[in-house]
Amino acid sequence: MSPRWTRIVATLGPSSLAEGMVDRLVEAGMDVARLNASHADHAFFRRAIDAVREAAARRSRTVAVLLDLRGPKIRVGRLEDPSGILLTEEEVVVVTTEDLPGGRGLIPCTYPQLVRDLDAGDEILLDDGAMKLVVVRRLSDTRLEARVVEGGRLLPHKGINIPGRALSAPALSEDDLDDLQAGLDLGVDYVALSFVRRAEDVRQLRAEIETRGGGAKIIAKIEKPQALDELDAILEASDGVMVARGDLGVEVELERVPRLQKEIIHAANHRGVLVITATQMLESMIEHSRPTRAEASDVANAIFDGSDAVMLSGETAVGRYPVEAVEMMDRIAREAEGSQFYRDVEDDPQHPCAFEPTERAMAWSARRVAREAGVGTIVVHTLSGRTAQVLSKLRPGIPVVALCPDEAVCRRMALFPGVLPLQSSFNDDIGTLLREGDRLLLDNGLVRDGERVVVLAGTMQIPGATSLLQIRRVEAQAGGRSSTTA
Ligand code: PEP
Repeated sequence: MSPRWTRIVATLGPSSLAEGMVDRLVEAGMDVARLNASHADHAFFRRAIDAVREAAARRSRTVAVLLDLRGPKIRVGRLEDPSGILLTEEEVVVVTTEDLPGGRGLIPCTYPQLVRDLDAGDEILLDDGAMKLVVVRRLSDTRLEARVVEGGRLLPHKGINIPGRALSAPALSEDDLDDLQAGLDLGVDYVALSFVRRAEDVRQLRAEIETRGGGAKIIAKIEKPQALDELDAILEASDGVMVARGDLGVEVELERVPRLQKEIIHAANHRGVLVITATQMLESMIEHSRPTRAEASDVANAIFDGSDAVMLSGETAVGRYPVEAVEMMDRIAREAEGSQFYRDVEDDPQHPCAFEPTERAMAWSARRVAREAGVGTIVVHTLSGRTAQVLSKLRPGIPVVALCPDEAVCRRMALFPGVLPLQSSFNDDIGTLLREGDRLLLDNGLVRDGERVVVLAGTMQIPGATSLLQIRRVEAQAGGRSSTTA
């Protein structure tokens, strides 16, 4: 079977921790396991990460872990009746920031500055926009009066969105910092931040990661109108972005989402930043074993748009068919990648151009040499993973094997399209390094004896300093294995 380029991010939840389930998700094609701090506690983080690491090792696969922080997400508090409260149109209710159980006519909210941030006429959306309130007046420092415009049954802890307002909540709450510490202690590879509003939010998270000695990379979730206004600066500050269509579709008019998806992906690719398209991709598979035609098209179109990864949320976290959802996504991705429309993405001359000129020139040359010389594998020796990322963004259309001595960097590369990370040993002698690479390729059955590969390497003392491009014939020899330059 030909390799799949697009990466699959699958959210772990109650559905995924049944005996052997993580193994099956890895087998089905999960490249990155996502832990959503909105729904999972630290004990779950530990169980899930242990299960992912063990399943990946059993299958000789590299799987990254992404911890998704809550950020300034506002939620409904607890309710007296866990089956919820009924909101009827035109009813007047009180929204409070007091830590009280809610009931008929009283909605508790977890955001302490709510009353200060809102004025009469502002809209409050509940449960992903399923219900709507309009603020009538401020009653006290902790209470607002609001009128129900669209009613429904409101369950405890559902999300609240205030689309028209720039909220004053900090980017990272105490709970986020607690979750971050727990995640870094467990060695998560990526940290996603919800409700990013400005580049400063990302820089703040990076400082917190660095202070804790972590190496995790940052994915900024684009779901607020303010983030769209500051997209360039956010892209510059981040290692990747997520088109977080769930909250984005509540914070802006739903009809803008398809266009924004394309614009965010294009901007991320232009900057060479990772981009994940997320939410409701195969939503109906939460209940059914097959997706709708529209969902299958959505996954394929996100790939044609240029996504590096596509994400499953409820489908794998709480759905009835988690393995089938990953398998379906895998099949849709392979089919999409086999079409002319994917090749258009590959060959788009506008495709990332914001790389540093030397790194781009080396990666582009490797792509070109491999294609023109009919070589089937590009091998990258990388310390930081940077060269592999640049090459991956240039969509060489040829599998990239990334050899790296650092296990954590190898795991992070699991999110790079078309890149197979392999842990190698460190060596600052280039000849030894290349021979060790040949041995790994042969031992892992990635090339045949005598096959040619294109190699990109640099001095192993300086991350990012790729300076060698070579066509190399990998040959096994009696009493050891070696190779010649073709
Ligand atoms: C989203 O809103 O699309 C998203 C990915 O975030 P969450 O799953 O935390 O709502």
